[in-house]
Amino acid sequence: MTEFEAVAAADGHAMGKAFIFRHDEMVVPHFHVKKDEVDKETAALHSAFSSVRKYCSDNLGKAVSDSERALYSVQILMIDDPEWLQAIEGYIKNDLYNAAWAVECATAEIVRALSSVSDEYMKERIIDIVDIQKSVTEELTGKARQHIRLVRDVVLVADNLLTSELLALEGIQHLKAICLDAGGKTSHVSILAKGWGIPAVVGLKDFSLQVKEGECIIVDGYSGHVTASPGKKQIAAYEKRKQEEKDEEARLIREADTLARTADGVRFILQANVEDRLGIGDAIKAGCEGIGLFRTEFLEMKYGATEDFSIREGIYDEIASSMLGHGKVTFRTLDAGGDKFVEGFCGKEDNPLLGWRAVRFCLDRKDIFKSQISSILKASRHGNVRMMFPMISTLEELEECIALVEEAKKELSRRRIPFDPDIEIGTMIEVPSAAILSDAIADMVDFVSIGTNDLVQYVLAVDRGNEKISHLYRADNPAVLRLVKMVVDNCHERNIPAGVCGQIASEADMIPLLVGMGCDSLSMPPLSVGRIKERLGTLYKPDCEKLLNNVLSMNSHERVAEMLKDFNNGRKT
Ligand code: PEP
Ligand code: MG
Repeated sequence: MTEFEAVAAADGHAMGKAFIFRHDEMVVPHFHVKKDEVDKETAALHSAFSSVRKYCSDNLGKAVSDSERALYSVQILMIDDPEWLQAIEGYIKNDLYNAAWAVECATAEIVRALSSVSDEYMKERIIDIVDIQKSVTEELTGKARQHIRLVRDVVLVADNLLTSELLALEGIQHLKAICLDAGGKTSHVSILAKGWGIPAVVGLKDFSLQVKEGECIIVDGYSGHVTASPGKKQIAAYEKRKQEEKDEEARLIREADTLARTADGVRFILQANVEDRLGIGDAIKAGCEGIGLFRTEFLEMKYGATEDFSIREGIYDEIASSMLGHGKVTFRTLDAGGDKFVEGFCGKEDNPLLGWRAVRFCLDRKDIFKSQISSILKASRHGNVRMMFPMISTLEELEECIALVEEAKKELSRRRIPFDPDIEIGTMIEVPSAAILSDAIADMVDFVSIGTNDLVQYVLAVDRGNEKISHLYRADNPAVLRLVKMVVDNCHERNIPAGVCGQIASEADMIPLLVGMGCDSLSMPPLSVGRIKERLGTLYKPDCEKLLNNVLSMNSHERVAEMLKDFNNGRKT
């Protein structure tokens, strides 16, 4: 048994066999085949073997040197070795591995055996064997794009995972947990996992090199604890925790209809962050009062970027209509870029987090932007839609965005297409300049939503997805907290609501501070709503205000963390 500790990125307990996916080493695609595909996969293997054998014997015939002759002779011996072929066939038939993956596993066994013999000649043959494996793999895959396909329940262990790779994963129902060497708790893979209720631990450094394919892994997404090859005791403890978790979830769902209030009756609007249509059902089930953040760029990643958003109108309309009676839907316009690489919209940049992303891209490509704005406006005919802009960093950008909305409204009116003329327009505050200018911004919009995921990243100059500096990525840094408080105050002075839609809204330990600040709404992954509602119900506003005042007078995040811990453990601050 080996234990690992890293960043808890998405709640939940899971146990399963490791499915390893590494970008650097894995020239071979790994996926499971279905039972009825075994024969096809085995036939592909035989055909690859025949082609490679023919290639080797042709080359043996043409060989001019002894070393070449030796190489091709060994490779032919290998190709003709019935044990190697049987081992590969076994992986396909019994483990349902695709042929290339099976070749890799069977070859690794031979390589392991040869590495331990003392005969130098045999040891030197390893390179020839790996070479022949590559030839067979190339025959089988061509230049196949890496793609994750799951047909059995697994814990996905990867060096890193692109948001687009996770979105393209086939067999998502088999994905029981995610363990990544890289990443932070607010990187978008973690956000997706949290939204889908898949436990995740990230920032595990070289975990994917330390575990073996198929090794049993227990993942605790609450604490960031991962156990490889657990013993009986650990498995029993896991099963107990898993049952408790299920009971707890069922209880929270039963209480979904109660409104969110603090113990002294202060009302909070709890909304959902959603990335696709499926999330809407979860949001309604969890009792959310609206969608505080619909990340529209995920549809572009999933279905392929479109410059003509009329093809998204059906989805936007369906989302607005399914939410009728459950609060408003806040469509955030395209936030492509950063760690959300949308093929077709984003190019390669040296510094994508500070680059041509979100409204910066949209204001350069007004044709695309206006098309999206019009589609959102059309969905607003249901009367429950709001529109919000991401990554605003100057007033001029916001002015331009608002002007485009007005233009789009005029066009729709001219074409007699219905929309909500009073649609609320808001902006994310997630760039320090916008936070500092939030008094002026609050004069221009109907609401703001504070995106702490990016705000923390930009205030502290810490890439939110980089595990090497994850210890510096802290929403409890006093510089961040003072800025968030300033934004809330600026909004309230101008009589507009201030919400928070970054991950801290779903962190029970941070809630007392957000209550103390007087945030009006909190938007989070649907599955977090029950727990946050419960936490709110234990808090008294004056206590939270006192805590906040004490915290804001601190200069070090360590002191803030201690104070918060004391408060959350019921000790006086
Ligand atoms: C944020 O930055 O806090 C936010 C909610 O947006 P995203 O996580 O999509 O960047
Ligand atoms: Mg953001």
